[in-house]
Amino acid sequence: MRPPPKTIGSLALALSALLAGGCADRNVDPVSVAFTGMGTLGSLIMPAGYASNAASWCVTVTTCVSRLEGHLSIFKPGSDLARLNASAGSEGIEVASDTMAVLKMGLQGSRDSGGAFDMTVGPLMALWGFRGSNSVLRVPMESERAETLQRVGAEHVVISGQTVRLDRPGVRLDAGGIGKGFAVDRCWDELRQQGAKSFLMNLGGNMRASGQPSPDRPWSVGVRHPFDANGLLGRMRLPDGMAVATSGHYERFVIIGGVRYAHIMDPRTGAPVQGMAGVTVVAPTATEADILSTTLFVMGPEAGLAMLQRTGRKAEALFVPDHQPLEILVTPGMADLFEPAPGMAVRCLTLNAHAGHVQ
Ligand code: ADP
Ligand code: MG
Repeated sequence: MRPPPKTIGSLALALSALLAGGCADRNVDPVSVAFTGMGTLGSLIMPAGYASNAASWCVTVTTCVSRLEGHLSIFKPGSDLARLNASAGSEGIEVASDTMAVLKMGLQGSRDSGGAFDMTVGPLMALWGFRGSNSVLRVPMESERAETLQRVGAEHVVISGQTVRLDRPGVRLDAGGIGKGFAVDRCWDELRQQGAKSFLMNLGGNMRASGQPSPDRPWSVGVRHPFDANGLLGRMRLPDGMAVATSGHYERFVIIGGVRYAHIMDPRTGAPVQGMAGVTVVAPTATEADILSTTLFVMGPEAGLAMLQRTGRKAEALFVPDHQPLEILVTPGMADLFEPAPGMAVRCLTLNAHAGHVQ
């Protein structure tokens, strides 16, 4: 769902996208088919014994991803999201059921997070130079930010039956923080319906496991080191059905006046998030993992952990703040899934119920 590589300092190259959430375990001797979709690289990895299915499963996956891209891409003029954006402030539009499902889950993500996750970040992405063809990047003025925030907020998305309306001109939806995860879930469902039992589906670092690569061990993926493109923080175990997603400041960003601004916005302030280098989330579906990795990147460990507990989400998170020395903070359940690389220390977050503080 990304535009073709542009002039801004984007490092959204295929390889880093693939590595964003980890790479497959090289030791299970898997068969891997690679494909492109939603502006990124994907892969389907399966145990060697399933090699004869690789071609037909790959067709299933690429067909599914491109169908969803046709609904959700803001860069394809006929897509549901592009049509909605073009008609903001006027009539509502009937959308596909998958688009509706994405919007409803996105709106729920906004409610859960008090607006930290927000699919209406489109105008902010444009303001900070992540959309369109701004050639000169500058920090927007306070007045521009305030004006833009008038067009940001889940309350501008009005759903009635199968129809969606954006309630004022200039509101712009953006599925960048949810669409790839949703596509992984849809592909995962279709593969299972086709009889696939053991596979690891990946789209731009959004991954979901099915079964195990061998009877004695689960799928495991590497978690990329946010400050070292070739390094790993450790490995993440992915039990049957579980998904993982990573949001990072290292993959897509703009540099303005020597300062690096990540592509994840805090819709409450109108500015890109500062202070977080990477957040990895394991959740029961890839859509939840995708939403939550973006959400927790915005909220940070303290408010993020409180939100997970308040909403009862069965998700675990790993935070790497943007400072040195490197710190890895994990939710209690993450300690069972994440095995740090040698020499990496992990600190477990606990929520002090009385004070609401993370320790
Ligand atoms: P990636 O797309 O690199 O996997 P994320 O899943 O974190 O990373 O999604 C970031 C994308 O989500 C941005 O490029 C933008 O399209 C969109 N986005 C940015 N900020 C937010 C936000 N606060 N809430 C929802 N979506 C956002
Ligand atoms: Mg996300």
